[in-house]
Amino acid sequence: MLDYLIKNATIVTMNKSREILKNASIAVFQDRIVDIGDTKALEHKYQEVKRVIDAEGKAVFPGLINTHNHMFQSLLKGLGDDRVLSDWLVECMFPSAATIDQEAVYYGGLVATLDNIHSGTTTILDYMHAQSSPQLSDGVIKAFKKTGVRGILGRGYMDLGEQFGTPKALIQDKAVIQEDILRLLDTYHNSDDGRIKVWLAPAAVWLSSKEMLDWSKKIADEYNTGITVHCSETPFDRQACTEIHGMPDTDTLAHYGIMGPNCLLVHCVHLTDRDIRMLKFHDAKVSHNPGSNMYLSSGVAPIPRLTEVGVTVGLATDGAASNNSNDMIEMLKLAALMQKVTHQDPTIITSDKVLEMATIDGARAIGMEDEIGSLEIGKKADLFIFDPFASAKSTPMHHPVSTLVYSASEQNVEMVMVDGRIILDNFKPTFLESERAVLIQAQEFADDLARKAGTYANKERPWRSLAY
Ligand SMILES: [Zn+2]
Repeated sequence: MLDYLIKNATIVTMNKSREILKNASIAVFQDRIVDIGDTKALEHKYQEVKRVIDAEGKAVFPGLINTHNHMFQSLLKGLGDDRVLSDWLVECMFPSAATIDQEAVYYGGLVATLDNIHSGTTTILDYMHAQSSPQLSDGVIKAFKKTGVRGILGRGYMDLGEQFGTPKALIQDKAVIQEDILRLLDTYHNSDDGRIKVWLAPAAVWLSSKEMLDWSKKIADEYNTGITVHCSETPFDRQACTEIHGMPDTDTLAHYGIMGPNCLLVHCVHLTDRDIRMLKFHDAKVSHNPGSNMYLSSGVAPIPRLTEVGVTVGLATDGAASNNSNDMIEMLKLAALMQKVTHQDPTIITSDKVLEMATIDGARAIGMEDEIGSLEIGKKADLFIFDPFASAKSTPMHHPVSTLVYSASEQNVEMVMVDGRIILDNFKPTFLESERAVLIQAQEFADDLARKAGTYANKERPWRSLAY
C-alpha cells in the first residue's frame, strides 16, 4: 500500500531534462518517490493509498536546499542593522555569540527551521560558529530532530584570531574542538534514518591554524563527510589570511589540499579569475548568499562566471542576523535581481537557473544529488506543494518557476514533506501544538539574550535617518 499519492498537480521535476509535468501524480512509499507520471495512469495502478492529496491547480517542487545558515542568529534579527561589517560584528554578533546558551540556541534553531520550512526548504546546512560554552551544537540538532527537517550541522570553530579582534570566548583550544567534533560525529552523524549529518566548519581560513585545517580534512575524509568554510566574503578575509598563512584564503585551501569535491566555500564574493579556475579544477562547491551579501554590502559574487565554467553553486540565506530572515523564497528573487542590476543585463541569469541553485545544484553542493534535489523515481520524498491561490501576489500562475521565483511568498507553501513524512500540512507545522506559542517563547529568549549580551539598547535606538 502506498503512503501518499499527490495527484492532479503541475510537477516541476528538476530531472535531467527539466521536465514540467501537467496533471501529474507522485507516489510515495516510506521515504521514497516510487512513481511519478500521468494522474490517470497512477490512480489506476495504485488503488490502495493511505492518503490521497489532490493538488489540482497547484505545483509541486523539490524541497529547497539552504546551503548556509547560522540558526541561532534568528534571535538577533534587527539588532545589527545599517552597520559596516566590523561594527556589526562587535556590536551585535560577537557579544551575542559569546553569551548564548543551549536552550536559546534551540529556540533560535526552531524559529529558523520554521521559517525555512514555511519557505519550502527541506534541507538546512547550519553552520554553528558560536561555541562559547560546551554542547551548543546539540541545541541545533535538537531543533532539526524536533521539526523533522533534513539537517546538516557544520560544527564551527576558531582556534586563532585574537589579533583581529575575535573575542577570546569564541576561540577554543585545538584539543577541545577536536574532542567535540568527534563526539558530534560519533553521536549524530547519519542519525534519524540519515536525516542528520555532521560536517566540519572552520569559521574562516584566517581563524584556523594549519594544524586544525589539516585535521579537519583528514576527519572529513575518514567519516565521508564535508567541510564548509567562509571564503573571500570581503577583501579583509584575503588580507588576514595572507598575514596568517602567507596567501589568500582560496590559495591556502588549495595549497593545504583541502579544496576538493567535499569542500563547500561560503560567499566567494571576491574571487579572481584564477580562483574561479582553481575552484573548477578541484571541483569545490560554492554557497551563494545574496541577501546577506547585500545586507552587509559585501559585494556581488561572480555567479554567472562561476556557473559558466561549471562550478556548482548552491543558494542560501546565511544567518538571520545578516538577512534578516531564513526565507528561501525571498533568496530566489534576490539572487536573480542582484545579478541583473549589477550586470545591467536582464538575461545574465534566469529564474530557471536560480531554481537549479536552490534544488539540484544545492544537492550537488552538499554531495547529496543522488538522494535529493529533484523529483525522480528512487529519490527521497523531499518536496513541497505550492498553492498559487493562497495569495494575490502569486495569481495568476502562468509558469510555476516564474511564479515561485518572482511572485511568491511563504504564504503559498501549503505542504512540506521530508523523507516521506509530512512536516507542514495545510500551512501548519505538524510537530508543534502551537507555532505561535513557540514564537512568543522565542521572543522571550531573544530579549533575555539581548539583555545578557548588552545589545538591548539596539531595541530602543534613536531614529537615524538624519545621520545619513
Ligand atoms: Zn555565514
